[in-house]
Amino acid sequence: MQYKRILLKLSGEALMGSRQYGIDPDRLQEYAKEIKDITDKGVEVAIVIGGGNIFRGLAGASRGMDRVQGDHMGMLATVINGLALQSALEDEDIPTRLQSAIKINEVAEPFIRRKAIRHLEKGRVVIFGGGTGNPYFTTDSAAVLRAIEIGAEVILKGTRVDGIYSSDPEKNIDATKFDNISFADVLQKGLKVMDTTAFTLSQENELPIIVFDMNTRGNLYKVVSGENIGTKVNL
Ligand code: UDP
Repeated sequence: MQYKRILLKLSGEALMGSRQYGIDPDRLQEYAKEIKDITDKGVEVAIVIGGGNIFRGLAGASRGMDRVQGDHMGMLATVINGLALQSALEDEDIPTRLQSAIKINEVAEPFIRRKAIRHLEKGRVVIFGGGTGNPYFTTDSAAVLRAIEIGAEVILKGTRVDGIYSSDPEKNIDATKFDNISFADVLQKGLKVMDTTAFTLSQENELPIIVFDMNTRGNLYKVVSGENIGTKVNL
């Protein structure tokens, strides 16, 4: 395996599978199996999960809801997803801990960096729920922040597309895929990888990002073993 400790970012929307809302248990189970393939190889796995399948603060705000109130709902949504993922991982006999950035002690441990690292060293998957714990941030920012804090070597951004393209491949047949691209080129070309806050935090801390298609069986294993699928963003 090329990487010893990774941070996997899964969007909330990914958990919907073919649904319009909520959580598809089959999709969760597929993800749990993918993750088992790499934990079986001794890879230390931390996961940040989004909440967009349930609620996004920005969507609430666009309909007149107070933004901070909506973001609190979004953060809670990530905890719900985290619990669902924890359950699916435990069904695959993967020891798992859920740590939340917002205090919700009856359902999840509070985020404590040293404890998270200890869990990873003991072979437990650590799911970080609650985003960064602050409104006006995204779970992509949480993913970069946690990855840096726990010393992950790379962020794996599991998506529906198989990498970063020169333009939207669903709209433009001439769109070409990058195998590798620098942080500077992503910014200069105006490509969308993560929101700017998350992206520049990654760049400043020299933390590579790999964008790959998480919905094809075996892809997570391939990425972690160093196969060049997806797109790697590096210095
Ligand atoms: N959120 C937040 N602070 C954070 C992370 C998330 O307030 O640090 C809220 C925000 O409202 C966001 C929602 O939680 O819209 C769900 O997260 P996100 O949109 O990043 O989920 P994803 O797009 O990955 O499903």
